[in-house]
Amino acid sequence: MKSFEKSIAAFEEAKQHMPGGVNSPVRAFRSVGMDPIFMDSGKGSKITDIDGNTYIDYVLSWGPLILGHADDRVVEGLKKITEKGTSFGAPTVIENKMAALVKERIPSMDIVRMVNSGTEATMSALRLARGFTGRDKILKFVGSYHGHGDSLLIKAGSGVATLGLPDSPGVPETIARNTITVPYNDLESVQYAFEQYGDDIAAVIAEPVCGNMGVVPPQPGFLEGLRDITKQHGALLIFDEVMTGFRVGYHSAQGHFGVEPDLTCLGKIIGGGLPVGAYGGRKEIMDRVAPAGDIYQAGTLSGNPLAMTAGYETLAAMDKAAYERINVHADRLAEGYKAAAEEFGIALQVNRAGSMVGVFFTDTPVINFDTAKTSNLDHFSMYYREMIEAGIFLPPSQFEGLFLSAAHTDEDIEATIEAARQAFKKIAAS
Ligand code: PMP
Repeated sequence: MKSFEKSIAAFEEAKQHMPGGVNSPVRAFRSVGMDPIFMDSGKGSKITDIDGNTYIDYVLSWGPLILGHADDRVVEGLKKITEKGTSFGAPTVIENKMAALVKERIPSMDIVRMVNSGTEATMSALRLARGFTGRDKILKFVGSYHGHGDSLLIKAGSGVATLGLPDSPGVPETIARNTITVPYNDLESVQYAFEQYGDDIAAVIAEPVCGNMGVVPPQPGFLEGLRDITKQHGALLIFDEVMTGFRVGYHSAQGHFGVEPDLTCLGKIIGGGLPVGAYGGRKEIMDRVAPAGDIYQAGTLSGNPLAMTAGYETLAAMDKAAYERINVHADRLAEGYKAAAEEFGIALQVNRAGSMVGVFFTDTPVINFDTAKTSNLDHFSMYYREMIEAGIFLPPSQFEGLFLSAAHTDEDIEATIEAARQAFKKIAAS
C-alpha cells in the first residue's frame, strides 16, 4: 500500500487556509472518498507526490499539458522570457505571434482577444454576443461546464456535477432566468426552445465535445444542426473550446467536425500550463470589443509574455504528426479498456474524441448528462482507488475525462490497461 502521510498532513494544514482545503473544488477528491494527493513535481507523462509516489498522469493539469510536464521547449522559453521581465501592461510582440498562430489553426477566428482563464473567455464572449445581438437570453446544455460566470453556472457539469450541488446560490434569479438549458445531443429541444424564445436568444454556447460530464462527443449532425438553427434565428453560435481547443485535433474540434462557429472560446492548451484564456471570431463581431468598439473587457495581465510563450511553444511543438501519435495511443487505451471490461463482465462505456477518453460504468450508451449519470459511482470509486494504488493518476470524478499527452509512451498505455484489468477483476469479484 502506498503511504500518503505527508499529503494527509498537508491537507490538514490546507483546511485551515482555504475553503475545503483547496483552490478549486475537484482537487478535493471528495467523490472518490479520498483525501487530496499533494503533488511535488512532474516530467513528461509522470508526476510525483510529496510522499515520493510516482504516477502516470492522465489529468495533465486538467488538460493544458498536451506536451506532458516540464517540456524542455516550454521550460527553456519561459526561462529566457522571464529574465526580460514578466509583464509590462504594454503590448509585446509575442502577443502578435501567438494570435497569428491561433488564427492560422482556427480560421473562424479573424480577431482574437487574450484573457486569463477559460471562465473569463466565456463570460466575455457572452457579453459580446448579448451586446452584438441586443438580446439577453442564452442557451446552454445540461451538464456542460463553461466556467463559473453567473449565467453559465446553471445546470453545470464538472465540479458542480461531481459535488452534486444544485444551481449555485449567489446567482441572482434575474440572471438565471435568461439561461435556457436543454439536453446535449438533442436538436429537437434546441428547436423547441427557439420556437418559444427565438427572438430573445443571443447565443447558443456549446462544448463541441463535452468534457465536463465525462467525455461525450456530438452525435452526427448535432453541431451542424446548431449551426443551422442559430443562423436561421439570428443568434450566435459560440463553441467553448477551452478544453477541446488544440486537443481534439490540430484545427481543434471545429476543424475536426467541419462546423464553424461565430465565436470561439479557448484556454488550457493555449497557455501551456500557465493561466490563460482567449475568445475570438468573426471580425464584424469582434470589432465591437473595446477599444475597437463599445463593449468593454480588459485585463491587467492579459496576454502576458509568460503565458504567451508557454502557449506558443506548446502549439508550435504540436504538429500534425504529434496529433496522429497521440490519437494512436488514445485509441489503444480506449480499446484496451473495452477488452478488459469484456474479459471481466463489467458494464462499461468508453467514449473518445481525439486524446480525450471517457469511461463510464454503465450499459447505457452515454450521449448526454442523464445517461452519464447512469454510471455506477461505487464502481468508479473502487476503480479510482485501485488505479491510484497501481500508480495511475486519473481525474478524481466520474464526470471528467482522461487526457493523453505527446509524452505518454507505449509502455505507459500498456501499464494503464493492465492496471484497469486488475481493477475490473476486483470489481467483478466484489
Ligand atoms: N469551459 C470549459 C469547456 C472548461 O472545461 C473549463 C474548465 N475546465 C472552463 C470553461 C473554465 O476554464 P477555467 O477553469 O480556466 O476558468
